[in-house]
Amino acid sequence: MATSPYPRLLAPLDLGFRKLRNRVLMGSMHTGLEDDPKHFHRLTAYFAERARGGVGLIVTGGFAPNVEGWAAPFSGRLTTRAAARRHRPITEAVHAEGGAIALQILHTGRYGYHPLAVAPSRLKSPISPFTPRALTARGIERQVRAFVRCAALAREAGYDGVEVMGSEGYFINQFLVAHTNRRSDEWGGSWANRMRLPVEIVSRMREAVGHDFIIVYRLSMLDLVPDGSSWEEVVELAKAIERAGATIINTGIGWHEARIPTIATSVPRAAFAWVTKKLMGEVGIPLCTTNRINDPGVAEQVLADGCADMVSMARPLLADPEFVNKAAAGRASEINTCIACNQACLDHVFERKVASCLVNPRAGFETELVVAPAARRKRIAVVGAGPAGLACATTLAERGHEVELFEGSLEIGGQFNMAKRIPGKEEFQETLRYFRRRIEIKGVALSLGRRATAESLAARAYDEIVLATGVTPRDPLIPGADEQRAAGRVISYVELLLHGRRAGRRVAVVGAGGIGFDVCEFLVSEGHSTALDTAAWLREWGVADPAVARGGLGRPEVEPPGRQVYLLQRKAAPFGKGLAKTTGWIHRTALRRKRVEMMGGVNYERVDERGLHVSFGEGRESPTLIEADTIVLCAGQEPDRSLAAPLRAKGLNVHLIGGADVAAELDAKRAIEQGTRLAAAL
Ligand code: NAP
Ligand code: SF4
Repeated sequence: MATSPYPRLLAPLDLGFRKLRNRVLMGSMHTGLEDDPKHFHRLTAYFAERARGGVGLIVTGGFAPNVEGWAAPFSGRLTTRAAARRHRPITEAVHAEGGAIALQILHTGRYGYHPLAVAPSRLKSPISPFTPRALTARGIERQVRAFVRCAALAREAGYDGVEVMGSEGYFINQFLVAHTNRRSDEWGGSWANRMRLPVEIVSRMREAVGHDFIIVYRLSMLDLVPDGSSWEEVVELAKAIERAGATIINTGIGWHEARIPTIATSVPRAAFAWVTKKLMGEVGIPLCTTNRINDPGVAEQVLADGCADMVSMARPLLADPEFVNKAAAGRASEINTCIACNQACLDHVFERKVASCLVNPRAGFETELVVAPAARRKRIAVVGAGPAGLACATTLAERGHEVELFEGSLEIGGQFNMAKRIPGKEEFQETLRYFRRRIEIKGVALSLGRRATAESLAARAYDEIVLATGVTPRDPLIPGADEQRAAGRVISYVELLLHGRRAGRRVAVVGAGGIGFDVCEFLVSEGHSTALDTAAWLREWGVADPAVARGGLGRPEVEPPGRQVYLLQRKAAPFGKGLAKTTGWIHRTALRRKRVEMMGGVNYERVDERGLHVSFGEGRESPTLIEADTIVLCAGQEPDRSLAAPLRAKGLNVHLIGGADVAAELDAKRAIEQGTRLAAAL
């Protein structure tokens, strides 16, 4: 038998009273399906698919142990035996697939987005408008009992264990750190008092659930907030948690209010595994590491480097439920890799929408978006191999249709070919690798470098034609731009990112949407991506060794920008307002630190050989020359649907998807979802 390429990752983990089939823990990810039992059949299908995919231990999204611990009003909680019974189908389905599942107990404390929130002290968090009530000693006792009751109920519901959420700045974490714990009773003040709560919870929980039930404790090893835990405190807590009866210690990195990215795509892969490694050898129970591990090779390396005994992956298992089985079967090139964009998972959670996945729109929608064999094999043409066309063509082929995919350029990927060139967006290459492989496996006939015309398509008598022809950049029609374009002073973002046109030392970027921000990052970094250089990235964001600086909070050291960049928009609104909730602040911070000058409320008056002339406001006041060697146009897009009318005129079945359908909302999430849904229906 061939040896596994991932021997450590796929090795069983013996917990004494039971064995996990491998070292992959599916980390907790709130999907929104936890919040209403009427969605539990969806949660069941979602977890069963991941258990079938081979994961060792699944951890659910967070369930509150009482209403005070709610994330938001009426979010998921487990407080009664009747509620526990409703979880039974979930645990039974996971067990039927040979998997194991633990329920995460999440008490949000002062992060609770509701008026019942409680905390060690009456201190509002920067991420919730509600000021929590400070608990009395009796109130704390009630919270401890709620945690213990929740674990016992989880056992009754058939779970193999629980994860006690002790990190990320939630309730328990709030007790540990002086920043949020100002108490002077036996639950505050000295470190021994501040760490009393988690130890009490775990030891009483162990007593209640017996010895053969998994208790994972998620321990904040790097708080990344002021007055965070010192390393000695982290080690002492880990030892106390082990003594209290935990089975596994999982790693938590960064509070939610921390202003250092911890899971975004610009965070290097496995950037925090060294933190867990520091704790290895200090305790006897298995340690699990986490954050930006999205590839079996990286996971294997983390284990080989002695950073941990297990690896937690949450989003990578949304992206591909078969991650583990594919790795085990030597089919890692077929893994649909999480690109850490957050766009359909965490951003959805913040918008109170069901979490899904940009690269896998079936995540969370397993019961509804079903890709079944087609009743009749059709001949289908897909025009355009951007994200929408790729998702559609490969899903159609998976269903058994005969699919031809036409792409005018020499490579597949569309807008992703630009995204992958942005420093910190290298992961987008993985999606293209995945689709390249999927085209091969599913037998899509790919035609590159040849533009399909209405005539050539009509001549082939397809049953259906899908137009995923994408977009063309919008020309903002600035006076003088055409002459300066001829002189090479004015270029579009496509010319800069795709065609290798170079920019000068002083650059004005017209348009501050997602692409304007990306272009600025490209320009200021001059080819050096700290996402590929962990040491440089940690310096850039000021992540320090927690043994040196409390909570790992150091001073950012930002390399000077490669050039002077001005970012412009006509509206007076704050910059980057339309960027995603969980990542927009990262882009804004990065550009500010690179001294990108942001100018809003401008009118573009004209371009000449000196640069870009602008004025401000409705009165066209304060005429200003922005001296620029290059002006990059990032003014949005127009849909390219030129083939639609002539094909329809010939009576053909034409479908528009992606940017060709709605350019105003050009985004990969919608494109891939629309392509997949159309393919599932045709
Ligand atoms: P966009 O978000 O629509 O932004 C276009 C920008 O151009 C706006 O700032 C707009 O601002 C300006 N503009 C529009 N019409 C103009 C005109 N006639 N003259 C001058 N300026 C004009 O488009 P995008 O930046 O090309 O991004 C497209 C999509 O890609 C986004 O919707 C997003 O989904 C996706 N994307 C996202 C990210 C990210 O989140 N990091 C990155 C890349 C792409 P004013 O009207 O105020 O000037
Ligand atoms: Fe990963 Fe993006 Fe999918 Fe979330 S939406 S799981 S970050 S690829």
